[in-house]
Order: sequence, then C-alpha cells, then structure tokens
Amino acid sequence: MDNIDYKECEVFSPSSSDTRFKIELNKVPIEWDLENGSFTFFGLDSALFWTDPSLVRVFAPLADEVGRDLFRLLVAHSSSLGTKEDYHSMIGSLGDGFAEGFLAWGKAVSTAGWGVFEMPTYDPVAKVATVIVRNPVELKIQRNLPPEKRWGCPSLQGKIIGIFNHAFSEHCWADDICYYDADTPYVVYQIYGSKKTISEELKNLRKERMLSRERALTCEVERKTEELRRSKEALEDYSRTLEEKVAARTSELETILGLLMAEKEKFKSLAEIDPLTGLYNRRAFFGLSGEILKKYSELDRPITVIMLDVDSFKQINDVYGHSVGDQVLVALSDLIKKTFRGSDVIGRIGGEEFAILCPNSDFVKDRAPLENLRKEIEGFQISAEGHEIKVTVSIGATTGKKTDDLGALIKQADKMLYRAKESGRNCIVSS
Ligand code: GH3
Ligand code: MG
Ligand code: MG
Repeated sequence: MDNIDYKECEVFSPSSSDTRFKIELNKVPIEWDLENGSFTFFGLDSALFWTDPSLVRVFAPLADEVGRDLFRLLVAHSSSLGTKEDYHSMIGSLGDGFAEGFLAWGKAVSTAGWGVFEMPTYDPVAKVATVIVRNPVELKIQRNLPPEKRWGCPSLQGKIIGIFNHAFSEHCWADDICYYDADTPYVVYQIYGSKKTISEELKNLRKERMLSRERALTCEVERKTEELRRSKEALEDYSRTLEEKVAARTSELETILGLLMAEKEKFKSLAEIDPLTGLYNRRAFFGLSGEILKKYSELDRPITVIMLDVDSFKQINDVYGHSVGDQVLVALSDLIKKTFRGSDVIGRIGGEEFAILCPNSDFVKDRAPLENLRKEIEGFQISAEGHEIKVTVSIGATTGKKTDDLGALIKQADKMLYRAKESGRNCIVSS
C-alpha cells in the first residue's frame, strides 16, 4: 500500500439513495456496493481480479475430475484452516461477543466480494444458528453452469464450520442450501452441533472411494477371469471339434486309401493275371522269371525252363467250338498248377502255349516229373458241354545255371519244343 498516491484518491461516500462506494485508486476505478456486496475493479465484477467465467473455468474441471463430493470437502477443509485466528480477532477486536463480532467480520470480508452476511438465528445454548450469505462469489461464478455441474459453497461452509466450532466450543456442522436462481443468488447455512468433522468426512469419503475402487477392481478381475474361462472353454470346444474332425477325416482317408489299395491290387492282378486261366500272363511271367533268375544267377543251383504247347489244338476249336476250347485250356491250366510247386512260376505265354520256370530243379537230368505230367495230361479226360475230350502236349525243356539270360533259356526251351513237335508231338525234348 506504500506506493498508493492518496492525493489522487477520490472517495464518494454512499448516500441514502445510492449504497455504493466509488473510489479511484491510482486511476483504478473501484466500486463497492454495500447492498449486494459486489466489488468491482475497472467495472469487472470480482473481488479477486478474476472475471466469473475465468474463475469457473479454473474450478469446474477440478470438480469434474475429483468428483463433486471430494472437491467440496477439500475446499471446505482448506478454507476451515486458520479460522481460529479469525474467531479470536472477531471477538477481540470486532465486537463485544460472538454475534456482533461475526457480523462485523462478515462486513469486513464482504469487501473482498465474499458476499453480504446475515445471521437471523444464533443460539449458543441449543448450539444452532442460521447464516445467510447473499451474492457470494462462489455461487455467482456457478450460476450459468447446469445444475448437475454446480458444487455449492464449500469455501464459505469450511469457514463457517471452523468459526462456529469455536463459538459453540464443540464440533458443529453447517449444511449449505444454495439458491442459484434467485434474483440475487444466496446461500443459507444451517449450523448445528454434530460429531461430523470435515477431516472425518474426508477420511470416510476417501475410504468409501477406495472400497468402491476395490469393488470395481474385484468386479473387473472377476469379469476378466470369467471372460478368460469362457475363451478357454471355447478353445477347448474348438480343439475337441477339430480333433473329431481330424479323426473323422483320417478315418475317411483310411477308407479311401483301403479302397485305393484294393483297386490297385485289382489293377495289378488285371495287369498280371490271364483272365481265362488265372495263370500269370506273358508280361508277368517274363518279369517275375527275370527277377528270380537274377537271384539264382549268383547261386550254384540249377533252374529249368519248360515250354508246353497243346497238340493240334486248332482241331479242338474246329470240332467243338471256341468255347469248348477255352474250357479245355482252363482244365489243363488247373492240372498244371497242381503239378508244380508254389515257388515255380507258371505263365500262359500264348494261346495254347505255357511256360514254367522251376528254380532249384534240373528236369533235363531228371525227366521223370515231366514225363509224369505228359502222361497225366494224355490220360486226362476233360468234360465240356457234353463232350469228353482228351488232349496231348509237347514239351521242350532246358536247364541253366549261373545265368540271368532268360531270353536265351526261353529260346533254347522253345527250340526243344519245336523238336518235340517235329518228333511227332506228345513227347518231351530237353537239353
Ligand atoms: P500244333 O500241334 O502244331 O501246336 O498245332 P495247333 O493246332 O495247336 O497249333 P496252331 O498254332 O496252328 O493253332 C493254335 C490254335 O489255338 C489257333 C487258335 O485258334 C487257338 N487258340 C489260341 N488261343 C485260343 C484261346 O484263347 N481259346 C481258344 N479256344 N483257342 C485258342
Ligand atoms: Mg499247339
Ligand atoms: Mg502253339
């Protein structure tokens, strides 16, 4: 205040019709209306050099952020600090007794724009009082906010609770009832003795908030756990379905594979077996015999190749027909199959011509088995379509050792067969 030039101050005292003080301090126009408590600098309606909209912009986000209840208690708590000094100064220097001192204090603070104080009731015995503050800056700045965004008058509330604690010499509480939408906004404080304290209320609210956060967290954890459990179940279901699908598909594939193998066997047999006699066909006979011969070529074991041709078979066809001829070929094949061993390879290599490969046998040296076969065929009576037919065969045979030349052995046996035919048929020639 030292640098104020009092000479330049001009003071207009309020008259009976005008309740306003007007001062110009260092060319700053200041106006104080005793009636409604408004205090303006440069015509700006705020004791704190803040305009209403800018003040509300400072506090509204805080109230939003921390929540109206906590914001109110925090403001009330901080404004309640230092009220002991206020109380003693208002009793000691502002009046004789509390009521007078309090109203004098109210007048003093209203110069700072706190509003105009009234105390319609004050009963220190019953410990009740009513304080009305008209046009308090706290309410004024919130007037244009929607009702749910307003936070009341906690700064004044804290002050009043603190002061009346001393006035009543015990804890008290003050409810603030705010009238924002009256012509002049005002707040009514109902003050009464109570065990409630701002610190306790703050503690309870914080505890309640902590518990509710804990509850929310527990709920969230439970929700997430349930979500996880469901996901796990869905995954297990999915994997079960997948396993079932894989098993079904595998069994399907196994069935198809089985069918394919059977088909393959069928084709193989179609490709290798002579359909009329069930003996190996020419190609299969040569393939199989070639393989066996290769194995025997390294062993010092004899191997015999036999060529067998039905004598004058053309006549059978001519006399009895082709179908009877076929039946004769089937009957003869069965007889040949019975004669030879399982390790021998028997093939029908021409119309009525058979070749037999007998490993580990030398039918050149020992012709008896061949002779028996020839005789058996000679005596064999074949019944077909009402006819009794007899056939003879000519046989050529050769034995090799340590050779893999199947062609040479076949050629030699064929040569022997030719000789047998030349020799009048129904005989064996071997070399
Ligand atoms: P050879 O004693 O000189 O062997 O006289 P062949 O009559 O047996 O010989 P040829 O080669 O002149 O005649 C063979 C006959 O065998 C001719 C053909 O009609 C007959 N034939 C060949 N394949 C089949 C067959 O699958 N079924 C029937 N029924 N006859 C066949
Ligand atoms: Mg013949
Ligand atoms: Mg022939």
